[in-house]
Amino acid sequence: MEHTHQQEERLKGKVAVITGGARGIGATTAKLFALNGAQVIIADILDEQGLGLADAIGGRYIHCDVSRESDVEAAVDLAMTWQGQLDIIFNNAGIGGPAGSITNLDMSKMRGLLAVNLDGIVHGIKHAARAMVARGRGGSILCTTSTAATLGGLGSHAYTMSKAAVLGLARSTALELGQHGIRVNCISPHGVPSEMLATGYREALGNPEIGIKEVSQIISERGNLILGRTATMDDVAQAALFLASDDSGFITAHNLVVDGGFTSAHCALS
Ligand code: NAD
Repeated sequence: MEHTHQQEERLKGKVAVITGGARGIGATTAKLFALNGAQVIIADILDEQGLGLADAIGGRYIHCDVSRESDVEAAVDLAMTWQGQLDIIFNNAGIGGPAGSITNLDMSKMRGLLAVNLDGIVHGIKHAARAMVARGRGGSILCTTSTAATLGGLGSHAYTMSKAAVLGLARSTALELGQHGIRVNCISPHGVPSEMLATGYREALGNPEIGIKEVSQIISERGNLILGRTATMDDVAQAALFLASDDSGFITAHNLVVDGGFTSAHCALS
């Protein structure tokens, strides 16, 4: 039922860069965007997976470590040389950790996380906005934040801080870029079984056997499943499709929470 809109090609004629698009939420979104008519550039550090997916969806892959500004600049420039335009950037690349008490926080590990989760998004907004403003046809900038941006205790201190900072940055840049018809929005997923969560649970529980399937099981056992199920990557991809498309033309500086009700209702249920 949720796929009926895919035939409508809601992104026909649009060009999108997706960071962290080689796997997980980014990869599912890349497929959905392509199904909806977009030309997609996957920007990631997982070359084999990224190249394979780009081939499968008729898109392009570029090796891009988002913590390096010149890499992100090159991803945006590829959109311009390949298609002559950039309409959408999904700043989705992100990492978890380091876990532990604030009293033992390893500052260099914290900065390593911020280089990806915060600098990476700054680079994406900066260079996408540059290209979009120069073209003068507007655009949609999306950032993956997290329910951890507004609730404590859902990730490490550094992770929580990085995602909250991105919410602020998105609001701030949305105000500046609105005059150019550029919208800036965030998506806050929650509990989507993925490699990132599997890595987190492997470390937290000291169990090297934990994979995506086990994560799904852990979330089901622990979580307040208000809708009776855990989140899927497609749940997040569909939200990204809406915010990327012209269907959301009057929505900017918004944080679309894709959490099955967790943020609003978890206190009542726990
Ligand atoms: P994932 O680990 O499968 O995907 C992350 C992607 O980002 C991978 O393809 C990875 O290679 C890429 N990446 C990591 N570091 C990079 C770098 N320096 N440069 C370029 N690419 C890099 O996990 P996911 O769950 O799909 O995560 C996607 C986003 O969703 C992240 O920003 C994450 O914080 C956010 N998020 C996930 C959840 C969840 O429940 N899974 C919840 C809230 C937010």
